Formats: sequence, C-alpha cells, structure tokens
Amino acid sequence: MALVLFSGGQDSTTCLAWALERFERVETIGFDYGQRHRVELGQRAVLREALAGLKPDWGQKLGPDHVLELSALGAISDTALTSTKAIEMGEQGLPNTFVPGRNLIFLTFAAALAYRRGLKGIVGGMCETDFSGYPDCRDDAIKAMQVALNIGMESRFVLETPLMWLDKAQTWALAQELGGDGLVEAIVEHSHTCYLGDRGARHAWGHGCGQCPACVLRAQGFARWKTGK
Ligand code: ZN
Repeated sequence: MALVLFSGGQDSTTCLAWALERFERVETIGFDYGQRHRVELGQRAVLREALAGLKPDWGQKLGPDHVLELSALGAISDTALTSTKAIEMGEQGLPNTFVPGRNLIFLTFAAALAYRRGLKGIVGGMCETDFSGYPDCRDDAIKAMQVALNIGMESRFVLETPLMWLDKAQTWALAQELGGDGLVEAIVEHSHTCYLGDRGARHAWGHGCGQCPACVLRAQGFARWKTGK
C-alpha cells in the first residue's frame, strides 16, 4: 500500500502508474503552495480518471486523493515558481525556480498522512539524472529523509523513487512499458509540466509554452525517446 506524491506532471503521473503496477492500494497526495503553474492541480483529477480507465486493476487499486494546502511555503519563498518574476540562474548555480526545502517538506507531510492512512510506501518522482540542480531531488537527500522520518515517526516507511536514475527519454519509455500507448497519450495530453502554467499550444510532447526550462527538458526527452537516441 502506497502514497504517491502526485503533482499532475509527467514524472509523478509515471510514478502513479508504476505504483499501480506494484501495490494493492494506492492513494495520492498533492500540494497547493501558491505555485504559478497551479493549473497542474486541475489536471490531477483528469489524470487519475484516465489511469483508472486504462487497466481494470488500476481502477480497483486507486484509492482516495488528498490535497494539502501549503500556502505558507509559497509565502516564505521568493522564487520564480511562486511569483511572476523571470526564470533565471541564481547566485549559487541554482535556477530561481528552486523552492528551498520543498521536497523535504512534501515528504514530511506525505509521511504524516501515510502514517495515519497505514501506507508504508511513499512514492515520489525525484530524479538525480535530468534534475535542474535541485539538491533535494538527490538520492542522498531522499535516503536521509527516509531515515529521519522512520526515526521521528517510529515507522518503517520506504521512500520509493522509480525515476531517480532515469533521464527524461527513459521516463517516457517507462510509461510505455507500464501502460502502453494509452498511458503515453494520457501523459502527453493531460499531464502538466510548464513552469508558466501555459496549456495553450499542443506540441507532440504535450501542452506548454515550449520555452521555459521545464518545457525544454520535456520536449527534448520526448524527441530523444521517439528517435531512440
Ligand atoms: Zn513552459
């Protein structure tokens, strides 16, 4: 039984499919922290329904969704993800889309909920391979969190990060493997990646502005997967 950190993006949708293949019961959690691309939150229900319809046992395994309101996180961080400033590189070599500690906070809230719901697995789409330099996506950070959460909550949570060592092309390949063309199509059409919250133009890889770092990464990964390079 597992809880999936589900934002409505490509990575977390692939993680949800991965969890539905592996666990008997799967619940989802999302966070509303004042993100500029809040449109992603609206895609969550659409994606959950699409995945539940792809395979009968996925539909049976998919349990409740939980959305936590974390506006305090947006209020204390001054970043391009939570305000309308331009996306650029910051002083420490990190893009200003970095919300300090975001994944650590998400994992802590997820574990608190998982504790109450009796869910042992906590699944997240953190990735060290194609990451944007966010230190809290690193494998060491996640492993340290697993230890801290298990000690602090006297539990045996297992933090699962199926995408940790995959690049974006391999993430598309994993989606294909898990749910075939139907899952790939659902991810292309419904998942949201664009930092600017743009769902206007429909590209081969999905909807987005096509210019921001998140769109570029997604588009490049899709192209590499399609061409097999
Ligand atoms: Zn974009």
